[in-house]
Amino acid sequence: AAKTEERNAFRFYTPMMHADNRRRLQLATELRQALSRGEFRLVFQPSIELGSGRIVAVEALLRWQHPERGEVLPGEFIPVAENLGLIRRIDEWVLQATCAQIQAWDLAGVPPIRVAVNISARWFGHPSFVDGVSRTLQSRRVSPHRLLLEITESAMLRLGDDTQRTMQTLDMLNIDVAIDDFGTGYSSMAYLKLPAVTYLKIDRSFVTGLPGDANDAAITEAMLAMSRSLGLITIAEGIETEAQHEFLLRAGCVEGQGYLYSYPLQAEEIQALLSPNQQSGSPRLRLVPPRR
Ligand code: C2E
Ligand code: MG
Ligand code: MG
Ligand code: MG
Repeated sequence: AAKTEERNAFRFYTPMMHADNRRRLQLATELRQALSRGEFRLVFQPSIELGSGRIVAVEALLRWQHPERGEVLPGEFIPVAENLGLIRRIDEWVLQATCAQIQAWDLAGVPPIRVAVNISARWFGHPSFVDGVSRTLQSRRVSPHRLLLEITESAMLRLGDDTQRTMQTLDMLNIDVAIDDFGTGYSSMAYLKLPAVTYLKIDRSFVTGLPGDANDAAITEAMLAMSRSLGLITIAEGIETEAQHEFLLRAGCVEGQGYLYSYPLQAEEIQALLSPNQQSGSPRLRLVPPRR
């Protein structure tokens, strides 16, 4: 019933609808065409090891190059795509494009790093999910351990009884899962011990208040302690200041992402950063000048 409601949601709008709603409705029409018109592209945000400053992973983030409006961010169009039932096809496109990019980096001799992809509950919960993922990996000759599937804590809440089995299969296939935006989902923590769940990403809303906000500091330390005892690897999101970096490093957080180190970048920029003839050793943090 909930699904039908969502699908028909736009029917109830009247000519008096707010400009905001009208914009959403137009967005919906255009979103349907965006895939076939090739208006989506990916950017990649580095994830660094806090201790060494080395780039150990990147996360693929979707961008919609709108013909008139320019770049539209996922926060605006992903919820619309979910309501319209378009999110599965979009997620599939993202995975295909990501695996194609991994293959291209490999062929160009870029040192192999982990690449994370955001997956919606709609696709993760679909019976075809694991098959789709492993077929895409195979078609691009990408080894499963290179991929990290990110699922938000709130998306986990919407998943059904098949979750355990899906995670088991992913685990058997050597595909890791991260719980994204952790701390915002108001859910039980039972899924932290599911097979395949290897990473926990601390939501930016907690990092923002560090180190000054005593509540954020206490919650962050508790999340780090818990994930450490469960054997999970923690990644903090949205690190913007040196002081946040220092706090998280001292509290035992393993990895971090944020504008302090790098904005999301084009594939070629990632390649240049990781390329071995780029100065000596591994790339270190804040090589990238802040932009946008
Ligand atoms: P997320 O997976 O938690 O991704 C992190 C978001 O925080 C990204 O926004 C990133 O640009 C932004 N960010 C990173 N560092 C900082 C920082 O230091 N400060 C601030 N203020 N922001 C930072 P973006 O790209 O707009 O994506 C927003 C959300 O949209 C993502 O949150 C993810 O949930 C979703 N999303 C993005 N790409 C995809 C996709 O391909 N498929 C699906 N299903 N969802 C996606
Ligand atoms: Mg993510
Ligand atoms: Mg996140
Ligand atoms: Mg987030």
